[in-house]
Amino acid sequence: MAKHIFITGGVVSSLGKGLTSASIGMLLESRGLKVKLQKFDPYINVDPGTMSPFQHGEVYVTNDGAETDLDLGHYERFTNAPLTKDCNFTTGKIYYAVIQKEREGKYLGRTVQVIPHITDEIKSCVDRLVDADTDVIITEIGGTVGDIESLPFLEAIRQFRIGKKANDVLYIHLTLIPYLRVSGELKTKPTQQSVGKLREIGIQPDVLICRAEKPIGQELREKISLFCSVPLDCVIEEKDVDFSIYEVPLVLMQQKLDEILVKKLGLAARRPNVRRWTEMLDTLRNAKAKCEIAIVGKYTGLHDAYKSITESLTHAGIANRARVAIRWIRAEEVEREGPKKLLQGVGGVLVPGGFGMRGTEGKMAAIRWARENRIPYFGLCLGMQCAVIEFARNVCGLKEANSTEFVADTPHPVISLLEEQKKITKLGGTMRLGAYPCRVEKGSRAAAAYGKEEVSERHRHRYEFNNHYRAIFEENGMTFSGIYPQADLVEIVELRDHPWFVAVQYHPEFQSKPTAAHPLFREFVRAALDGRRATTRRRTRTGTPLALKVSEPTDGLR
Ligand code: GLN
Repeated sequence: MAKHIFITGGVVSSLGKGLTSASIGMLLESRGLKVKLQKFDPYINVDPGTMSPFQHGEVYVTNDGAETDLDLGHYERFTNAPLTKDCNFTTGKIYYAVIQKEREGKYLGRTVQVIPHITDEIKSCVDRLVDADTDVIITEIGGTVGDIESLPFLEAIRQFRIGKKANDVLYIHLTLIPYLRVSGELKTKPTQQSVGKLREIGIQPDVLICRAEKPIGQELREKISLFCSVPLDCVIEEKDVDFSIYEVPLVLMQQKLDEILVKKLGLAARRPNVRRWTEMLDTLRNAKAKCEIAIVGKYTGLHDAYKSITESLTHAGIANRARVAIRWIRAEEVEREGPKKLLQGVGGVLVPGGFGMRGTEGKMAAIRWARENRIPYFGLCLGMQCAVIEFARNVCGLKEANSTEFVADTPHPVISLLEEQKKITKLGGTMRLGAYPCRVEKGSRAAAAYGKEEVSERHRHRYEFNNHYRAIFEENGMTFSGIYPQADLVEIVELRDHPWFVAVQYHPEFQSKPTAAHPLFREFVRAALDGRRATTRRRTRTGTPLALKVSEPTDGLR
């Protein structure tokens, strides 16, 4: 029987519950256990797919096409847990299911209520992950204890323990110990109150993980233990990491959290093996080479919107023993200032996915600059569509080429909707979503990166390359090196006469891990580093000093 860990959060939001849950998953896996992770989000949207990135950050897509919370990205980067549509439920999705059952008469005339019907539905979503292969199911409850919205979820996880053995279910509460600068003190009161709130609901946390910017110390630990009724060794400190988010599991392991969990859940587990993980961190720490990648996007300044991309670039850096710095560039600024001023000196240019016309002309100007100046370019989803439009206009001579997403009656719809998409009127969950196979052409840059000709990549878009234009693009030097064979859809475009210009209709960033960088990200960063080395050599020969501006490292420092 699978054991259950429920993770709640207290005091404030944005404590890094997703990262902590992912880290716990990673630690249990390092002890040879099979884990699954799941998140409940208390908001009413059925999924984050229709929410603005400004509100929600990145929408993470699973293989089976679920549009989910970005914390699932952490789960997948830290663990090997399989992620499906059953790994993220919102209040909206829970109520939707209950209301549908009510309409089908499944409640046999009873009054449908939060308790027991909504709570039963929530518990059934946890049970869906149970199978014979899984040792531990980790369920993260979004939001903060004390919110009205999260009450049904907390009530459901309280009920979940009823009828189970004491060591089948474990509650972890992640909390904040704020530091008051004026008095120079760490304060435990908010944590006491948050645990008090949990107890009111009927949940006594088994383990407390305390986020703090300063070390908590023995005395405070004892105080927290006493006031919150949590054994001293189960008061764990999670101090801010100053180097990389990938240190978090090791910080928790140092305090024996893995051992505590294994013991409390009565699991038979081997000793932890974190060798690959520590090697990965050592590589990052010792990386000498540096390169700067420009991300030209619409939601810059809100880095959560591109979380998987920035992480993938860090992974690509690790694979190349390099530190990748990111230069964030607002696409609209490129429209105003021109690309040269903003992009000068970068090793590579990346245009990420996006929706709507705003900023697209700036993205195309940046792509043109990378194409003409032979700077490595990597386009993701909209970044591929913009590369296609730019090439149509400035190389193929189709001056007014566009996507029908931006100009419905463009004379040259090089990016357009498929017939079946034209009939769709609802926005939620109606895009081409999830994993599709892609055949990669032998001899292409993509094939060289992947090292194979059959790959599977995840999608989240409505528009496609318009096959009517394939011949004219090919005559002008663009190759279509990846195809979804069943529907003959273009998945990868490349430029032959360029050091590295690859753009993909899918989202490779969802399949990169710190210990296994995605091959296209890895090769893009390699090309950026190669370009830099070549420039350095040229400049050193002519005696011009090298102006390498490197901004902050990319791996989401906290
Ligand atoms: N807006 C484009 C489409 O729907 C691209 C989507 C994306 O970049 N994810 O096709």
